[in-house]
Amino acid sequence: MTAPQDKLLDPAAFTGRIHLDGQWVEGAGGTLDSIEPATGEVLATVGLAGPADVTRAAESAERAQQEWAALPHPQRAAVLRRAGQLWEQHAEEVIGWNVREVGSIPPFAGFAVHVTAEECFEAAALPSHPLGQVLASAEPRLSYAQRVPVGVVGVISPFNVPLILGIRAVAPALALGNAVLLKPDPRTVVTGGITMVRIFEEAGLPAGLLQLLPGGADIGTAMVEDPRVRVIAFTGSTRAGRSVGESAGRHLKRAHLELGGNSAFIVRPDADVEPAVNLATWGNYLNQGQICMSIGRHIVHESLFDEYVTKLAAKAESMVVGNPATGQVHLGPVIDATQRDRIHAWVQEAVEQGAGLAAGGTYEDLFYRPTVLANPDRDATIFREEVFGPVVSVIPYATDSEAASLAADTPYGLSLGIVTADALAGLELAQRIPTGIVHINDQTVNDEATAPFGGVRTSGTGSRHGGAEASIEAFTETRWITLRREPPQYPL
Ligand code: NAD
Repeated sequence: MTAPQDKLLDPAAFTGRIHLDGQWVEGAGGTLDSIEPATGEVLATVGLAGPADVTRAAESAERAQQEWAALPHPQRAAVLRRAGQLWEQHAEEVIGWNVREVGSIPPFAGFAVHVTAEECFEAAALPSHPLGQVLASAEPRLSYAQRVPVGVVGVISPFNVPLILGIRAVAPALALGNAVLLKPDPRTVVTGGITMVRIFEEAGLPAGLLQLLPGGADIGTAMVEDPRVRVIAFTGSTRAGRSVGESAGRHLKRAHLELGGNSAFIVRPDADVEPAVNLATWGNYLNQGQICMSIGRHIVHESLFDEYVTKLAAKAESMVVGNPATGQVHLGPVIDATQRDRIHAWVQEAVEQGAGLAAGGTYEDLFYRPTVLANPDRDATIFREEVFGPVVSVIPYATDSEAASLAADTPYGLSLGIVTADALAGLELAQRIPTGIVHINDQTVNDEATAPFGGVRTSGTGSRHGGAEASIEAFTETRWITLRREPPQYPL
C-alpha cells in the first residue's frame, strides 16, 4: 500500500482518462466535460470508454480476479477496511466534488460519504463470512455447497447519488473475490467513478480489479453483452433497466435491477399534521427529489387534507433554493435542462387538468422551486409517473381500504411511509400494499448498509443490496461439491 496522500484527486492524473488494468489511459470514446449544474461551469474533463475498452477491461479483470479470489481472506478484508477509512479521511474533498458535480447540498453529500464508508466496513466482514453448507447425502461421501465468486461483475450507476449507488455493489462484489467493471453516469464521472477508483488504489487493491469505463448506454450494453461479465448490478430508470434485463436474459446472465419509484406517503386520521409535514418535507425535497425513494404521492385522510396541504405548501414556500457550493440552501439545482423541462411540462399539464398549485411551479435556470400539487387528476402524468424532481401530489382518502388501493395503484413498488398514532394499524395497512420497503412513522427515504434494499414490480428485481445475505446471494454462485474416499462401482 502506498502512503495515503493529502489530496485524493489530482486532475492532472485523470483528465481525459479512463482507468484500465491499473493505468489511467485515454479511452476510445474521447472525452466529456463535467458541468456544474448550478453554474454551467466546466469542472473537469473526463475520459470516455469505447466498446473495445470494455473488452480489454473484461479480459484483464478476469485474470486479476483469479489471483484476488485466491488471496487469504484477511488480505481482502484489509483492503475494504482501508477503503472505509480513506473515505472518512478524504470526506471533505469528496463532498466538495459531490456538491458541485451533482448539485447535492453538503449535508446530503456528507451522508452519502458516511454510507459509502459504512458499505466498505460492512463488506470487510464478507471475506470471512461462512460461505457454504454441509449437505445431507445418501451416499458415503462429503457433500457440500460452496459459494464461489461469480468472476467479473458489471456495475452501472446513475447520477443522483453516485457514491452510494456505486459502492453498494462495488464493495461487496470485491470483498467476495470478484473483479468489478464500473460504469457511472457520464454526467457524474468524477464523484461516481474517479473517487471510487482513487480510494481503492490508495487502499492497495491490486491492478485490474476495479476498472472505470465511463460512457452512455452503449458502454452499459457492451458490458452486459461481454461473456466474461457474469453479473450486472444496475441502478437507474425502469426504462433502461428493462433493456438491461432483456439483454442479460438473452446472454443468460443475472441482472440485479434497482429501478424507479413513485412512493406513497399515507397520513392516517389519527396522525399529527405538524410532524407529518416535517417528515414529508425531507422525503419530498432532499436532493431536489432526485432519489428513487422520494415521496411522489401523498395520500392524506380527508379530515386532515386542507390543513396538510396548507402547511406543506407553507413549508415548501419557505425553502431556499440556490447554489449549494456557495450558500446555505435547502435545495440545489436539478441535474440538467432536460430533467427540468420534463418536470415543468408535467406540472403545467397537471394544472391545466385541474390540479391546485399550492406552492412552487416555477424555476430559474436549473433551480426548480419545491412544488405542491393539490388533488391532481389521477390520470395526470405527474401523479402516475416518477417525477424525479421537487414536485409532489397530495390527494385525499376516506377509508384504510381506499388508501391501500390508491397506494397500490401504480406499476412501481419501492418504498412506503405511513404516519399514524396506531403503529399496528399502520403495519396492517402496509401489508396490503406491494412494496420493497416500509417505514411506519417515518418517511420513505432511508438507507443503511446493513438493511436489504430493493423494490418489487417495475421498481426492480428485489433486495439485492444491503447485509451479508443479500450480498452473498447477489455476487456469488453456488457450487455443489462431493468427495469420496474411493470411486464407487456403477452398474453399467
Ligand atoms: P438512467 O436509467 O437514464 O441511467 C442510469 C445508468 O444507466 C447510467 O449510468 C446510464 O448511462 C446507464 N444506461 C442508460 N441506458 C442504458 C442501457 N440501455 N443499457 C445500459 N446502461 C444504460 O437513469 P437516471 O435518469 O440517470 O437516474 C434516475 C433513475 O434511477 C430514476 O428512475 C431513479 O428512480 C433510479 N434510481 C433507482 C434507485 C434504486 O435503488 N432503486 C436508486 C437511484 C436511482
